[in-house]
Amino acid sequence: MSGRSAIVTGAAQGIGLAIAKKLHEHGASVALVDLDGDRAEQAAKELGGERVLALACDVTDEAGVERVVRTAAEEFGGLDIHVNNAGITRDASLRRMSVEDFDAVVTVHLRGTWLGVRAASAVMREAGRGSIINISSLSGKAGNPGQTNYSAAKAGIIGLTKAAAKELAHRGVRVNAVQPGLIRTAMTAAMPPEAFAEREAAIPMKRAGEPEEVAGAVLFLASDLAAYMTGSVLEVGGGRLM
Ligand code: NDP
Repeated sequence: MSGRSAIVTGAAQGIGLAIAKKLHEHGASVALVDLDGDRAEQAAKELGGERVLALACDVTDEAGVERVVRTAAEEFGGLDIHVNNAGITRDASLRRMSVEDFDAVVTVHLRGTWLGVRAASAVMREAGRGSIINISSLSGKAGNPGQTNYSAAKAGIIGLTKAAAKELAHRGVRVNAVQPGLIRTAMTAAMPPEAFAEREAAIPMKRAGEPEEVAGAVLFLASDLAAYMTGSVLEVGGGRLM
């Protein structure tokens, strides 16, 4: 990764922070993007001062996403890796879910990922190379009860990934997705303990994953080890829903 530059969205905590740390450890310059600039700044400090940038941005904001990509590319002298990771949940049964909850989740995941793919690929196609990684979820493969909004958005990210991969392959830009299973972060800490335990028990490896274990798959897709991979979906779920 040395000499490479990356943007990671939703990087103030959880999976995004683990991805930012992993890319940075392996030599990349990393821009950590999050809704809250102060939290992005705090997270950036954890990586150390060198080769790090903290930027506040809501991934649903078109101008904001374009500004982030422009700033990182100028600051680092290019953009090699873009990770669309920012995400939210608003779980409820169909009977209880509001249109606002549906729209909020679809907008952050789908519009946010699409804006990131569009802005990052515009820079990468000029350079003739780049790797975009979109964080989907096994919920998008199998569907989770109580997550009709989230499952729809995460499945949509797969279609978006494959369509963009086809458009960009001849320009040297690869677009892949990762589908994590149950990972220990603030997002899953919000689940009722019995629901978490039930999901964990259904995992062939019999444990939830750690954010670093998702980051390993992202590092691989970002690197030249995955040079002949585009439009692919890597499952990181301990064998769940295979
Ligand atoms: P967390 O909630 O721990 O972290 C998500 C981060 O994204 C937060 O820092 C959050 O900021 C930020 N964020 C939310 N909305 C926006 C936005 N509009 N613009 C910019 N940043 C935003 O989640 P995880 O680390 O668990 O999840 C990361 C990704 O992995 C998500 O896409 C999630 O759907 C996916 N995933 C997670 C799984 C899990 O088991 N944890 C399983 C499968 C997929 P703030 O806190 O300020 O709102």
